[in-house]
Amino acid sequence: MGVRTVWVLAEVTDGVVSLTTAELISQASTLGDRVECFSFNVDPSAIASTLGSYGAHKIWSVGELGGRLAGPVVAHAMASVAVNEGRPGAVLVGQTYDGRDILARLSVKWDLPVLTNVVNVTGELPDLVSEHAIFGGEKIVQAHFTHSSTGLFAIRAKSFEIRDHQAVEPEIVNVPMSEEVVADQAKITRSHVEERVGPKLDEAAVVVSGGRGLGQAENYQMIEELAKLLHGAPGASRAIVDAGWVPYAYQVGQTGKTVKPSLYLAVGISGATQHMVGMKAAKNIIAINKDKEAPIFQIADLGIVGDAHKVVPQLIDALRARG
Ligand SMILES: Cc1cc2nc3c(=O)[nH]c(=O)nc-3n(C[C@H](O)[C@H](O)[C@H](O)COP(=O)(O)OP(=O)(O)OC[C@H]3O[C@@H](n4cnc5c(N)ncnc54)[C@H](O)[C@@H]3O)c2cc1C
Repeated sequence: MGVRTVWVLAEVTDGVVSLTTAELISQASTLGDRVECFSFNVDPSAIASTLGSYGAHKIWSVGELGGRLAGPVVAHAMASVAVNEGRPGAVLVGQTYDGRDILARLSVKWDLPVLTNVVNVTGELPDLVSEHAIFGGEKIVQAHFTHSSTGLFAIRAKSFEIRDHQAVEPEIVNVPMSEEVVADQAKITRSHVEERVGPKLDEAAVVVSGGRGLGQAENYQMIEELAKLLHGAPGASRAIVDAGWVPYAYQVGQTGKTVKPSLYLAVGISGATQHMVGMKAAKNIIAINKDKEAPIFQIADLGIVGDAHKVVPQLIDALRARG
Protein backbone atom coordinates (compact mmCIF):
# COMPACT_ATOMS: atom_id res chain seq x y z
CA MET A 1 0.00 0.00 0.00
CA GLY A 2 1.47 3.30 -0.96
CA VAL A 3 0.84 6.63 0.60
CA ARG A 4 -0.67 7.62 -2.74
CA THR A 5 -3.43 5.02 -2.40
CA VAL A 6 -6.91 6.18 -1.44
CA TRP A 7 -9.43 3.93 0.26
CA VAL A 8 -13.12 4.52 -0.34
CA LEU A 9 -16.02 2.96 1.55
CA ALA A 10 -18.39 1.46 -1.03
CA GLU A 11 -21.97 1.54 0.18
CA VAL A 12 -24.55 -0.57 -1.62
CA THR A 13 -28.31 -0.78 -1.02
CA ASP A 14 -30.35 -3.57 -2.62
CA GLY A 15 -27.47 -4.27 -4.97
CA VAL A 16 -27.22 -0.66 -6.15
CA VAL A 17 -23.99 1.29 -5.55
CA SER A 18 -24.82 4.64 -3.92
CA LEU A 19 -24.29 7.81 -5.87
CA THR A 20 -22.07 9.13 -3.07
CA THR A 21 -19.80 6.10 -3.48
CA ALA A 22 -19.48 6.89 -7.18
CA GLU A 23 -18.67 10.53 -6.39
CA LEU A 24 -16.02 9.53 -3.85
CA ILE A 25 -14.29 7.02 -6.13
CA SER A 26 -14.32 9.50 -9.00
CA GLN A 27 -12.72 12.24 -6.89
CA ALA A 28 -10.34 9.79 -5.17
CA SER A 29 -8.81 8.93 -8.53
CA THR A 30 -7.65 12.56 -8.87
CA LEU A 31 -6.03 12.58 -5.42
CA GLY A 32 -3.58 9.68 -5.76
CA ASP A 33 -2.43 6.80 -7.95
CA ARG A 34 -4.75 4.02 -6.81
CA VAL A 35 -8.28 3.76 -5.50
CA GLU A 36 -9.24 0.75 -3.40
CA CYS A 37 -12.78 0.17 -2.11
CA PHE A 38 -14.12 -1.68 0.91
CA SER A 39 -17.48 -3.36 0.37
CA PHE A 40 -19.75 -5.25 2.75
CA ASN A 41 -23.08 -7.09 2.56
CA VAL A 42 -22.74 -7.52 -1.19
CA ASP A 43 -21.24 -9.98 -3.66
CA PRO A 44 -18.23 -7.94 -4.85
CA SER A 45 -18.32 -9.44 -8.35
CA ALA A 46 -21.80 -7.94 -8.79
CA ILE A 47 -20.52 -4.40 -8.27
CA ALA A 48 -16.99 -4.75 -9.67
CA SER A 49 -17.68 -3.34 -13.12
CA THR A 50 -19.63 -0.40 -11.66
CA LEU A 51 -16.86 0.50 -9.21
CA GLY A 52 -14.29 -0.04 -11.97
CA SER A 53 -16.15 2.35 -14.26
CA TYR A 54 -15.58 5.14 -11.72
CA GLY A 55 -11.89 4.25 -11.37
CA ALA A 56 -11.59 1.67 -8.55
CA HIS A 57 -8.56 -0.63 -8.90
CA LYS A 58 -9.34 -3.06 -6.12
CA ILE A 59 -12.22 -4.22 -3.93
CA TRP A 60 -11.56 -5.50 -0.44
CA SER A 61 -14.68 -7.52 0.31
CA VAL A 62 -15.68 -7.84 3.94
CA GLY A 63 -18.53 -10.18 2.96
CA GLU A 64 -21.94 -10.69 4.53
CA LEU A 65 -22.32 -9.35 8.05
CA GLY A 66 -25.37 -11.46 8.90
CA GLY A 67 -27.33 -8.50 10.25
CA ARG A 68 -24.45 -7.29 12.44
CA LEU A 69 -23.62 -3.61 12.80
CA ALA A 70 -21.22 -2.63 9.99
CA GLY A 71 -19.10 -0.15 11.97
CA PRO A 72 -17.02 -2.46 14.17
CA VAL A 73 -16.60 -5.19 11.54
CA VAL A 74 -15.61 -2.97 8.62
CA ALA A 75 -13.28 -0.84 10.76
CA HIS A 76 -11.68 -4.05 12.02
CA ALA A 77 -11.29 -5.27 8.42
CA MET A 78 -9.66 -1.99 7.34
CA ALA A 79 -7.25 -2.02 10.26
CA SER A 80 -6.29 -5.65 9.62
CA VAL A 81 -5.67 -5.02 5.89
CA ALA A 82 -3.41 -2.11 6.86
CA VAL A 83 -1.33 -4.38 9.12
CA ASN A 84 -0.17 -6.37 6.07
CA GLU A 85 -0.44 -3.79 3.32
CA GLY A 86 0.34 -0.54 5.14
CA ARG A 87 -2.01 2.37 5.60
CA PRO A 88 -3.33 4.37 2.64
CA GLY A 89 -2.73 8.09 2.17
CA ALA A 90 -6.42 8.86 2.68
CA VAL A 91 -9.71 7.19 3.53
CA LEU A 92 -12.89 8.73 2.09
CA VAL A 93 -16.32 7.75 3.40
CA GLY A 94 -19.74 9.24 2.76
CA GLN A 95 -21.22 11.06 5.74
CA THR A 96 -23.82 8.31 6.23
CA TYR A 97 -24.72 6.40 9.39
CA ASP A 98 -22.41 3.50 8.50
CA GLY A 99 -19.72 5.79 7.06
CA ARG A 100 -19.48 7.87 10.22
CA ASP A 101 -19.53 4.79 12.46
CA ILE A 102 -16.78 3.04 10.50
CA LEU A 103 -14.54 6.11 10.28
CA ALA A 104 -14.91 6.96 13.97
CA ARG A 105 -13.86 3.43 14.92
CA LEU A 106 -10.94 3.49 12.49
CA SER A 107 -9.84 6.82 13.94
CA VAL A 108 -9.68 5.24 17.40
CA LYS A 109 -7.83 2.17 16.13
CA TRP A 110 -5.24 4.27 14.33
CA ASP A 111 -5.25 7.10 16.88
CA LEU A 112 -5.77 9.63 14.08
CA PRO A 113 -8.10 12.63 13.81
CA VAL A 114 -11.02 12.74 11.36
CA LEU A 115 -12.19 15.68 9.25
CA THR A 116 -15.99 15.67 9.00
CA ASN A 117 -18.67 17.56 7.10
CA VAL A 118 -16.30 17.82 4.15
CA VAL A 119 -17.71 19.39 0.96
CA ASN A 120 -14.57 19.16 -1.19
CA VAL A 121 -11.12 17.55 -1.21
CA THR A 122 -8.48 18.76 -3.64
CA GLY A 123 -4.75 18.50 -4.20
CA GLU A 124 -2.63 15.40 -4.54
CA LEU A 125 -1.42 13.03 -1.89
CA PRO A 126 0.22 13.65 0.48
CA ASP A 127 -0.92 17.31 0.28
CA LEU A 128 -4.69 17.21 0.39
CA VAL A 129 -6.83 20.20 1.29
CA SER A 130 -10.45 19.76 2.41
CA GLU A 131 -13.25 22.29 2.50
CA HIS A 132 -15.96 22.51 5.14
CA ALA A 133 -19.19 24.51 5.10
CA ILE A 134 -19.67 26.40 8.37
CA PHE A 135 -22.24 28.88 9.71
CA GLY A 136 -24.99 27.10 7.79
CA GLY A 137 -23.00 27.19 4.57
CA GLU A 138 -22.29 30.94 4.76
CA LYS A 139 -18.54 30.36 4.89
CA ILE A 140 -16.20 27.70 3.54
CA VAL A 141 -13.08 26.94 5.57
CA GLN A 142 -10.11 24.96 4.34
CA ALA A 143 -8.29 22.36 6.41
CA HIS A 144 -5.39 20.00 6.04
CA PHE A 145 -3.75 17.46 8.28
CA THR A 146 -0.43 18.57 9.68
CA HIS A 147 0.60 15.54 11.75
CA SER A 148 -1.24 12.68 10.12
CA SER A 149 0.15 10.43 7.41
CA THR A 150 -3.36 9.13 6.63
CA GLY A 151 -6.16 11.64 6.12
CA LEU A 152 -9.57 10.44 7.31
CA PHE A 153 -12.43 12.32 5.62
CA ALA A 154 -16.22 12.04 6.12
CA ILE A 155 -17.75 13.68 3.06
CA ARG A 156 -21.22 15.07 2.41
CA ALA A 157 -23.26 13.77 -0.51
CA LYS A 158 -23.06 15.74 -3.76
CA SER A 159 -19.63 17.16 -2.98
CA PHE A 160 -18.07 15.97 -6.26
CA GLU A 161 -19.06 15.61 -9.90
CA ILE A 162 -18.69 12.14 -11.37
CA ARG A 163 -16.07 12.40 -14.11
CA ASP A 164 -15.59 10.24 -17.19
CA HIS A 165 -13.10 7.51 -16.45
CA GLN A 166 -11.34 4.86 -18.37
CA ALA A 167 -12.99 1.72 -17.02
CA VAL A 168 -10.75 -0.50 -14.88
CA GLU A 169 -11.40 -4.15 -14.00
CA PRO A 170 -10.89 -4.14 -10.25
CA GLU A 171 -9.11 -6.97 -8.49
CA ILE A 172 -11.32 -8.56 -5.81
CA VAL A 173 -9.79 -9.70 -2.53
CA ASN A 174 -11.78 -11.22 0.32
CA VAL A 175 -10.70 -9.91 3.71
CA PRO A 176 -10.41 -12.93 6.00
CA MET A 177 -12.60 -12.26 9.03
CA SER A 178 -12.70 -14.56 12.04
CA GLU A 179 -16.23 -15.62 12.91
CA GLU A 180 -15.82 -14.29 16.46
CA VAL A 181 -15.17 -10.75 15.21
CA VAL A 182 -18.47 -10.73 13.36
CA ALA A 183 -20.47 -12.70 15.93
CA ASP A 184 -19.27 -10.47 18.79
CA GLN A 185 -20.87 -7.35 17.35
CA ALA A 186 -24.27 -5.82 18.02
CA LYS A 187 -27.04 -7.29 15.90
CA ILE A 188 -29.50 -5.01 14.13
CA THR A 189 -32.88 -6.25 15.30
CA ARG A 190 -35.09 -3.93 13.26
CA SER A 191 -34.59 -1.22 10.69
CA HIS A 192 -37.19 1.11 9.26
CA VAL A 193 -37.15 1.89 5.57
CA GLU A 194 -39.05 5.07 4.71
CA GLU A 195 -41.73 4.47 2.11
CA ARG A 196 -40.95 6.15 -1.16
CA VAL A 197 -42.27 6.30 -4.69
CA GLY A 198 -40.19 7.74 -7.52
CA PRO A 199 -36.51 8.65 -7.42
CA LYS A 200 -34.47 9.12 -4.23
CA LEU A 201 -34.51 12.69 -2.98
CA ASP A 202 -30.75 13.18 -3.09
CA GLU A 203 -30.41 11.54 -6.51
CA ALA A 204 -33.45 13.00 -8.31
CA ALA A 205 -33.05 15.27 -11.34
CA VAL A 206 -36.13 17.21 -10.24
CA VAL A 207 -37.02 18.04 -6.64
CA VAL A 208 -40.27 19.74 -5.62
CA SER A 209 -40.18 20.91 -2.01
CA GLY A 210 -42.93 22.34 0.16
CA GLY A 211 -42.72 24.54 3.23
CA ARG A 212 -44.87 26.14 5.90
CA GLY A 213 -46.52 28.33 3.26
CA LEU A 214 -48.61 25.29 2.28
CA GLY A 215 -50.71 26.07 5.33
CA GLN A 216 -51.54 22.55 6.46
CA ALA A 217 -50.33 18.97 6.16
CA GLU A 218 -53.07 17.89 3.71
CA ASN A 219 -51.85 20.44 1.17
CA TYR A 220 -48.54 18.59 0.86
CA GLN A 221 -50.42 16.24 -1.49
CA MET A 222 -50.08 18.82 -4.26
CA ILE A 223 -46.28 18.79 -3.82
CA GLU A 224 -46.29 15.01 -4.21
CA GLU A 225 -48.56 15.26 -7.24
CA LEU A 226 -46.39 17.90 -8.89
CA ALA A 227 -43.21 15.91 -8.15
CA LYS A 228 -44.79 12.81 -9.68
CA LEU A 229 -45.83 14.64 -12.84
CA LEU A 230 -42.28 15.98 -13.22
CA HIS A 231 -40.78 12.51 -12.52
CA GLY A 232 -39.07 14.02 -9.51
CA ALA A 233 -38.88 13.56 -5.76
CA PRO A 234 -40.84 15.49 -3.12
CA GLY A 235 -38.83 17.36 -0.48
CA ALA A 236 -39.54 19.64 2.45
CA SER A 237 -38.30 22.40 4.68
CA ARG A 238 -37.51 21.58 8.27
CA ALA A 239 -40.50 23.62 9.45
CA ILE A 240 -42.96 21.07 8.09
CA VAL A 241 -40.82 18.09 9.10
CA ASP A 242 -40.76 19.41 12.68
CA ALA A 243 -44.52 19.97 12.45
CA GLY A 244 -44.91 16.27 11.60
CA TRP A 245 -46.41 16.82 8.14
CA VAL A 246 -43.77 14.67 6.41
CA PRO A 247 -40.99 12.31 7.59
CA TYR A 248 -37.45 13.54 8.27
CA ALA A 249 -36.24 11.67 5.16
CA TYR A 250 -37.87 14.46 3.10
CA GLN A 251 -35.91 17.29 4.72
CA VAL A 252 -33.58 19.38 2.56
CA GLY A 253 -30.94 21.56 4.20
CA GLN A 254 -28.16 21.80 6.69
CA THR A 255 -29.59 19.12 8.97
CA GLY A 256 -31.29 17.22 6.16
CA LYS A 257 -30.27 16.15 2.68
CA THR A 258 -28.09 18.03 0.22
CA VAL A 259 -29.60 17.97 -3.26
CA LYS A 260 -28.19 19.09 -6.61
CA PRO A 261 -30.98 18.48 -9.11
CA SER A 262 -31.35 20.09 -12.54
CA LEU A 263 -34.54 21.69 -11.24
CA TYR A 264 -35.46 22.61 -7.67
CA LEU A 265 -38.96 23.96 -7.16
CA ALA A 266 -39.52 25.59 -3.75
CA VAL A 267 -43.15 26.12 -2.80
CA GLY A 268 -44.03 28.22 0.25
CA ILE A 269 -40.46 28.13 1.51
CA SER A 270 -38.94 31.38 2.81
CA GLY A 271 -35.31 30.51 2.03
CA ALA A 272 -33.64 30.35 5.43
CA THR A 273 -29.86 29.92 5.20
CA GLN A 274 -30.16 26.45 6.68
CA HIS A 275 -32.55 25.42 3.90
CA MET A 276 -30.61 27.05 1.08
CA VAL A 277 -27.33 25.36 1.99
CA GLY A 278 -28.95 22.07 1.00
CA MET A 279 -30.27 23.14 -2.41
CA LYS A 280 -28.52 26.25 -3.70
CA ALA A 281 -26.27 24.18 -5.98
CA ALA A 282 -29.31 23.11 -8.03
CA LYS A 283 -28.85 24.04 -11.70
CA ASN A 284 -32.22 25.82 -11.92
CA ILE A 285 -34.28 27.10 -9.02
CA ILE A 286 -37.94 28.10 -9.25
CA ALA A 287 -39.60 29.62 -6.20
CA ILE A 288 -43.30 30.15 -5.56
CA ASN A 289 -43.94 32.45 -2.62
CA LYS A 290 -46.59 35.05 -1.89
CA ASP A 291 -44.04 37.41 -0.29
CA LYS A 292 -41.94 39.14 -2.96
CA GLU A 293 -39.29 39.91 -0.31
CA ALA A 294 -38.77 36.23 0.59
CA PRO A 295 -35.00 35.44 0.62
CA ILE A 296 -35.51 32.41 -1.63
CA PHE A 297 -36.04 34.84 -4.54
CA GLN A 298 -32.43 36.02 -4.18
CA ILE A 299 -31.17 32.68 -5.47
CA ALA A 300 -34.11 31.75 -7.70
CA ASP A 301 -33.67 31.70 -11.48
CA LEU A 302 -37.42 32.09 -11.84
CA GLY A 303 -39.57 33.62 -9.13
CA ILE A 304 -43.36 33.39 -9.05
CA VAL A 305 -44.91 35.81 -6.57
CA GLY A 306 -48.25 34.23 -5.84
CA ASP A 307 -50.38 32.02 -3.68
CA ALA A 308 -49.20 28.40 -3.83
CA HIS A 309 -52.78 27.21 -3.56
CA LYS A 310 -53.59 28.92 -6.84
CA VAL A 311 -50.30 28.52 -8.76
CA VAL A 312 -49.58 24.85 -8.02
CA PRO A 313 -53.00 23.47 -9.04
CA GLN A 314 -52.69 25.39 -12.33
CA LEU A 315 -49.24 23.92 -12.90
CA ILE A 316 -50.60 20.45 -12.17
CA ASP A 317 -53.50 20.97 -14.61
CA ALA A 318 -51.14 22.23 -17.31
CA LEU A 319 -48.81 19.24 -16.88
CA ARG A 320 -51.72 16.79 -16.90
CA ALA A 321 -53.04 18.41 -20.07
CA ARG A 322 -49.69 17.78 -21.74
CA GLY A 323 -50.16 14.08 -20.95
C1 LIG B 1 -29.37 24.50 13.50
C2 LIG B 1 -30.50 24.64 12.53
C3 LIG B 1 -30.59 23.75 11.48
C4 LIG B 1 -31.62 23.87 10.55
N1 LIG B 1 -31.69 22.99 9.51
C5 LIG B 1 -32.64 23.17 8.57
C6 LIG B 1 -32.69 22.31 7.43
O1 LIG B 1 -31.91 21.36 7.28
N2 LIG B 1 -33.64 22.54 6.50
C7 LIG B 1 -34.56 23.57 6.62
O2 LIG B 1 -35.40 23.71 5.72
N3 LIG B 1 -34.53 24.37 7.69
C8 LIG B 1 -33.61 24.18 8.67
N4 LIG B 1 -33.63 24.98 9.77
C9 LIG B 1 -34.80 25.87 9.97
C10 LIG B 1 -34.74 27.16 9.17
O3 LIG B 1 -34.03 28.13 9.92
C11 LIG B 1 -36.16 27.69 8.90
O4 LIG B 1 -36.85 27.84 10.13
C12 LIG B 1 -37.01 26.79 7.99
O5 LIG B 1 -36.27 26.45 6.83
C13 LIG B 1 -38.25 27.53 7.58
O6 LIG B 1 -39.09 26.71 6.85
P1 LIG B 1 -40.14 27.33 5.82
O7 LIG B 1 -39.42 28.13 4.80
O8 LIG B 1 -41.03 26.21 5.38
O9 LIG B 1 -41.05 28.25 6.78
P2 LIG B 1 -41.13 29.82 6.91
O10 LIG B 1 -39.81 30.41 7.15
O11 LIG B 1 -42.22 30.07 7.89
O12 LIG B 1 -41.59 30.31 5.46
C14 LIG B 1 -42.86 30.09 4.91
C15 LIG B 1 -42.91 30.86 3.61
O13 LIG B 1 -44.13 30.57 2.96
C16 LIG B 1 -44.60 31.76 2.36
N5 LIG B 1 -46.07 31.60 2.22
C17 LIG B 1 -47.02 31.66 3.17
N6 LIG B 1 -48.23 31.40 2.64
C18 LIG B 1 -48.02 31.18 1.32
C19 LIG B 1 -48.89 30.86 0.24
N7 LIG B 1 -50.21 30.70 0.40
N8 LIG B 1 -48.33 30.72 -0.99
C20 LIG B 1 -46.99 30.89 -1.20
N9 LIG B 1 -46.14 31.18 -0.19
C21 LIG B 1 -46.65 31.32 1.04
C22 LIG B 1 -44.23 32.86 3.31
O14 LIG B 1 -44.16 34.11 2.63
C23 LIG B 1 -42.86 32.38 3.79
O15 LIG B 1 -41.83 32.91 2.98
C24 LIG B 1 -32.60 24.88 10.70
C25 LIG B 1 -32.50 25.78 11.76
C26 LIG B 1 -31.47 25.67 12.67
C27 LIG B 1 -31.38 26.65 13.80
